[in-house]
Amino acid sequence: MSAEVDVIVIGAGAAGLAAARELSRRGCSVTLLEAANRIGGRAFSEEFVPGEWFDHGCAWLVGGETNPFTPIATEHGLSLSTETRPLFTLEHTRLIRNGRRIDAAERKARLAYYEACETAIAAAAEEGRDVPLSAVIPQDPALDQPFRTMIDVSWGDATTDRVSTIDHGTGEGDLGYRVHKGLGTLVAIWGADMPVSLNVTAERIDWSGPQMKVITDKGTLTAKTVLITVSTGVLADERIRFHPPLPDWKQEAINDLPMITENKVGLYLRPGFITDADRAYHATWTDDGLSAKVDTAVTGGNTAVVLFGGPEALSLEKEGPAAMESFATDRLSDIFGSNVRKDVRRSIATGWKGNQATLGSWAAARPGRACQRKRLAQSVDDRFFFAGEATMTGSKGTCHGAYFSGLRAAREIADKIAPAMPEAGLTG
Ligand SMILES: Cc1cc2nc3c(=O)[nH]c(=O)nc-3n(C[C@H](O)[C@H](O)[C@H](O)COP(=O)(O)OP(=O)(O)OC[C@H]3O[C@@H](n4cnc5c(N)ncnc54)[C@H](O)[C@@H]3O)c2cc1C
Repeated sequence: MSAEVDVIVIGAGAAGLAAARELSRRGCSVTLLEAANRIGGRAFSEEFVPGEWFDHGCAWLVGGETNPFTPIATEHGLSLSTETRPLFTLEHTRLIRNGRRIDAAERKARLAYYEACETAIAAAAEEGRDVPLSAVIPQDPALDQPFRTMIDVSWGDATTDRVSTIDHGTGEGDLGYRVHKGLGTLVAIWGADMPVSLNVTAERIDWSGPQMKVITDKGTLTAKTVLITVSTGVLADERIRFHPPLPDWKQEAINDLPMITENKVGLYLRPGFITDADRAYHATWTDDGLSAKVDTAVTGGNTAVVLFGGPEALSLEKEGPAAMESFATDRLSDIFGSNVRKDVRRSIATGWKGNQATLGSWAAARPGRACQRKRLAQSVDDRFFFAGEATMTGSKGTCHGAYFSGLRAAREIADKIAPAMPEAGLTG
């Protein structure tokens, strides 16, 4: 590794790939570094049984037709589940309490509570009141489900006193489309033509002199500018050290946007077990506090996916895949009865907290600190640039948000070092 380039991009997730592509299009020389042995970062699909794909990270093309990856999927011949989109909305979500589907009256009362919570949060966000969700939602433990399950899945292990009203209130709408072969597959195919140095970990950035020096485990690289797209978990844990240190305002922004953890378990069931009538999205909970969202193969196939946050996201990950599978099978039993156990053929569990490339699932602003997303996005000394899902406000914590952040950072850099190039397009 040698020769100075215009830009070194650190991290080949959706943000880094979008940035590197746009920078190259604008005539900048780019080196894209990725610590893992694959591109995509938190976009990663695995075919764990032939024809059955499991997204370890992002799965939904949030926003459906407005998502920039929707036309990219079509361009690359990947089919989408568009018609199942309504089944992922609250209106169609099946509500299961203590292993029984709740009746219409209870459903009505619980959804009214849910609605009241969302209205209160949206009003606070609209007024610019950045406080914990718990400070504005009505307190009614008798009705707090499925609202709490939704918070667990949206914000992982963060509780309502840890989630910011502005962060939550500026979120996007329903879940959107799915990619039959996985959203991770789509990102991998879209990014496949980008030159990437895989298995190269950036360890230190020396910006004490006129050049930016990136010290990796494979040698030192130099560049005019550096774009960092790694998670705030990686930055807060000082997996990349800076000489001199980052300014206090930037370090504060990193610390104010810590990672939360949501985990998933995919359970491949005996073919034929899931009938068309069973294909639904569920919120299931028990009165002793266990809850999850369960997708019983809404978009086809034989794989159910159990998604969970709350304290279980961390404690079960710590216990290991067997404990996660057992928890997930219990949640499936809530829906199908305990006979389902003998029909589980294979399982796969994520472990996002322990994943050294991210150290969590996505960033959540501390209450009162949602404004730090904009500061995280700001450059330092016109040489250090930042992208990644955590730098976004509206589409934070998403794959397309990461993509947009990469385009934004690429434009900022190109305007500094190659101002004559044309404007960027929004798609691939
Ligand atoms: C369980 C889960 C479910 C999700 N569901 C959805 C969903 O349904 N829809 C949606 O839109 N989004 C979803 N997301 C969020 C989405 O996956 C992320 O927001 C997005 O993929 C982040 O992209 P990024 O480029 O910002 O970061 P990353 O994908 O984390 O990319 C950063 C890259 O940097 C690399 N890296 C780290 N350290 C170094 C280093 N020192 N040197 C070099 N490289 C390094 C990493 O290996 C990684 O590849 C989900 C995420 C999770 C975890």
